Amino acid sequence: AKEQGDGLYHFYDSLIENQREENMRLENELKNALLEEQFKLYYQPKIDAITGEIIGAEALIRWLHPEHGMVSPAKFIPLAENSGVILDIDEWVLEEACRQNRSWQLQGMPHFPVAVNISARHFYQSNLIPTITRILEETGLEPRYLLLEITEGTLIKNVEYGVRMMEDLRAMGIHISMDDFGTGYSSLSQLDRLPISEMKLDRSFIQGITQDSRKSSIVRAVIELGHHMDLRIVAEGIESPEELKYLTKLECDQLQGYLFSKPLPEPKFTRFVLEWDSTTIN
Ligand code: C2E
Ligand code: CA
Ligand code: CA
Ligand code: CA
Repeated sequence: AKEQGDGLYHFYDSLIENQREENMRLENELKNALLEEQFKLYYQPKIDAITGEIIGAEALIRWLHPEHGMVSPAKFIPLAENSGVILDIDEWVLEEACRQNRSWQLQGMPHFPVAVNISARHFYQSNLIPTITRILEETGLEPRYLLLEITEGTLIKNVEYGVRMMEDLRAMGIHISMDDFGTGYSSLSQLDRLPISEMKLDRSFIQGITQDSRKSSIVRAVIELGHHMDLRIVAEGIESPEELKYLTKLECDQLQGYLFSKPLPEPKFTRFVLEWDSTTIN
C-alpha cells in the first residue's frame, strides 16, 4: 500500500510539474509576443443611443501568433492573468490605446474616450496610477479621454482598496466603467460607494432579450437603477435590429455590437468612423 501511495504521489507530482512547465512555456511565449510585437489592438465603436453618433471605442487585444494565427483574448488573457505577464500586457494596451486616441485627435477625428480593459490583478498594483500618469504625459492624452473597464470581480479581493483606487483615478479625471455587470460577484451592495460613470450590461443579458421576459425584466431594472444613480448604461453585443430597438426603448444610453461593427484594426476603424452615418440607427 505504501508503494502504491508513493506511485500515485509521484504521478500527481509530475502532473503538477507538467502544468507548471506548461504555464512557464506560455508565460515565456507571451513575453516573447510582446517583444516581437505580435499583439495588436482592435477597436469597437460605442454609439450614443439618442444621437446615433460614435462617442467612444473599446480597445480589444488580439494576438497574431506566427503559427496559430489570430488567438482570441478569451484564450490567453485568463492564462496571462495567472502570471505576472498580464501586467506587461495591460501596460502595453494602455500605452497603445492612449497613443492611438491622441493620434486620432491630431488627425481631426471627433474626440471621444478610448476604453481599456484592466485586469483585476493590475488594479491592485500600487504602480497603476504612476503608470497611467506617465502614459498620459508621454502620449499627451487628456485623462478624460481614457475610460477604464473593470469587472465586478475586481472588488472581491479588497473592496476598501478597490474603492480607494477608483477614487484616486476619478480624482485624476479618468472615468471608470463597471464591465460585465450582473455576471459575477454582485457589487450591488457596494454600488452607491463606487465612483463609476457607467455600467456595461454583459452580452449574455442582451442575447435573446426580445424573447426572454426574465432577461428583459433584469435589464429594465438595471437601467432604472443605473439612471437613479446618474450612471449611463451601455449594452454590449447587440447583433440584431430588434435588440437595438428594444434597448433604445428601455432608454439604454450607449450601444455596442456587431450590428454596428465588429472590433476593427487600424486603419479600418478610422475609415469606419469617418464614413459613419449617425442616422443609420434610427
Ligand atoms: P469584454 O470586455 O466583455 O469584451 C466584449 C467581447 O465581446 C469582445 O470579445 C468583443 O469582440 C465581443 N463582442 C462585441 N460585440 C459583439 C457582438 O455583437 N456579438 C458577439 N458575439 N461578440 C461581441 P473579445 O475581443 O474576444 O474579448 C474577450 C474578453 O477578453 C473581453 O471581454 C475582455 O474581458 C478580455 N480582453 C479583451 N481585450 C483585453 C485587453 O486588452 N486587456 C484585458 N485585460 N482583457 C482584455
Ligand atoms: Ca470590456
Ligand atoms: Ca470582461
Ligand atoms: Ca462582456
